[in-house]
Amino acid sequence: MAAEPQDDCLFCRIVAGKIPATLVRETDTTLAFRDINPQAPTHVLVIPKAHHRDAAALATADPALTADVLRETQAVATAEGLDSYRVVFNTGAGAGQTVFHAHAHVLGGRGLQWPPG
Ligand code: 5GP
Ligand code: ZN
Repeated sequence: MAAEPQDDCLFCRIVAGKIPATLVRETDTTLAFRDINPQAPTHVLVIPKAHHRDAAALATADPALTADVLRETQAVATAEGLDSYRVVFNTGAGAGQTVFHAHAHVLGGRGLQWPPG
């Protein structure tokens, strides 16, 4: 159930190798790379290679791929030596989503406040 790559999508362009990124992990279906504007000592984005506009659309269209992304957040946390961390899916502009290709933020390496802003 792969969605077509979008030429105007930043993360599709990273998947295609047209824009460089600092890769942390790659699987057949996912990519993990460092956020360009890190909000914590570890700030890694985990994305499905297939284009889905947000986590809700991804979960509806492809539950197995959603599970791949979530499994990779744990793999990134382990690789980064984090025993506590936060996984965030900003969904919709009002929640701070700026790139409309589904992605999980993996944040850790410092204390994290709750509730978030
Ligand atoms: P959102 O705000 O949509 O939840 O998250 C998008 C994230 O992508 C932001 O944290 C932003 O810093 C990051 N970002 C934007 N452009 C680039 C880029 O060209 N490369 C990388 N690695 N991260 C980016
Ligand atoms: Zn995309």
